[in-house]
Amino acid sequence: MFEKILIANRGEIALRIHRACKEMGIKTVAVHSTADADAMHVRLADESVCIGPPQAAKSYLNVPALITACELTGAEAIHPGYGFLSENASFAQIVTEHGLTFIGPTADHIRLMGDKIMAKEAMIELGVPCVPGSDGGIPDVKEAKKVAKKIGYPVLIKASSGGGGRGMKLARSEEELATAFSTARSESKAAFGDDTVYMEKYLELPRHIEIQVVADSHGNVVHLGERDCSLQRRHQKVLEEAPSPALNAKDREKIGKTVSKAIQKMGYLGVGTIEFLYENGEFYFIEMNTRLQVEHPVTEAIYNVDLVREQISIAAGNPLSFSQDQVEPYGHAIECRINAEHPATFAPSPGTINSFHAPGGLGIRMDSAIYTGYRIPPHYDSLIGKLIVHGRTRNECLMRLRRALGEMVVDGVLTTTPLFQALMSEPDFINGEYNIHWLEKWLEKQKS
Ligand code: ADP
Repeated sequence: MFEKILIANRGEIALRIHRACKEMGIKTVAVHSTADADAMHVRLADESVCIGPPQAAKSYLNVPALITACELTGAEAIHPGYGFLSENASFAQIVTEHGLTFIGPTADHIRLMGDKIMAKEAMIELGVPCVPGSDGGIPDVKEAKKVAKKIGYPVLIKASSGGGGRGMKLARSEEELATAFSTARSESKAAFGDDTVYMEKYLELPRHIEIQVVADSHGNVVHLGERDCSLQRRHQKVLEEAPSPALNAKDREKIGKTVSKAIQKMGYLGVGTIEFLYENGEFYFIEMNTRLQVEHPVTEAIYNVDLVREQISIAAGNPLSFSQDQVEPYGHAIECRINAEHPATFAPSPGTINSFHAPGGLGIRMDSAIYTGYRIPPHYDSLIGKLIVHGRTRNECLMRLRRALGEMVVDGVLTTTPLFQALMSEPDFINGEYNIHWLEKWLEKQKS
């Protein structure tokens, strides 16, 4: 096992990884920008290294500084968390070339899944069902029109290097296609430096259901069921739950087996998430995330596993600590992403937290790196915490979540807590009857 791990991230996820390390008897090295010198992940780590100025490009994405920090501190492995360098294949490669361990899959698998066109091709070959769409990239509007005619409107133009919902444009008819195509292309070029786009049939009422997998270097693969991440705004997840209110045990087993088989054939290593859209009882692959997800705690809650611990242990060459028949989901879990944002306009609300009280009690987990007196810097993502609630049933989970949201105190900045409180009395949400467009429509209704 490793003696010392460098955590190449910040905020709640850096703390989450630090906690797993401590429970495994591993020393931690935190890295931070000058804006994060007082951050909790820095305070709790055994050692810390300042890696640059506030801009992420010069600090958290600064590869030479991260490698130097490992050399300075003697850290043997790097955990990238999510975001930042977690899905950067060349970073994984550089880490390995320096004789360090990258806690994650191989650079080749990161590269393959980072290119969504190649990822879809690979999945089709592995027997995973995909959204109908173009065979590969689309070079021009003429070709786009041809493909759209074949698959039928509405269609979605998507960026091959896409992420975070960017570079995605809807066309409901041929008249809308030229604009959708060129906007998706230019948005993709600006955000990812790559204007390759492809086309998918636009599904009208799907749910976003993703399957968690974990694979070791001994050929063992286990799937840990699904997470339902259909509550979204601008294609970004807002609340996640497991199990999905829309799936039954038979569907769960079927898709779990399909995914496990594919992952095994791929020879994938570590944790991964295969994302699907689910409509009328059918699953359609959209992408694979080759890292730990923000929403991993809902899976941890119902399966009673520690995914970060498994990640670290797998990277050290150990076999998985459980087999497929040893894991069984129990109860229901929901995660709310608490962002420092206006709860209706979602405008960022950085600033100083005058008072913080985290909810507690049975079945409550609060993953956050904030504290009273903490100043949220304006340079990074606005996620300041995740409230994860577990109950024996979905109903118990909802009652507990309502109670927990009422206990939360974050004074000094605006947060998305009131949004979740409002959702708790929405019949559609209470009944689990929502799809990927439900939240946007609900938000529109609130404005009028
Ligand atoms: P990103 O990597 O940018 O997050 P994804 O392919 O994972 O992009 O899609 C993000 C979200 O966009 C999905 O959860 C879903 O809400 C929406 N989406 C993606 N593809 C489709 C599609 N073919 N039809 C309808 N909605 C889609």
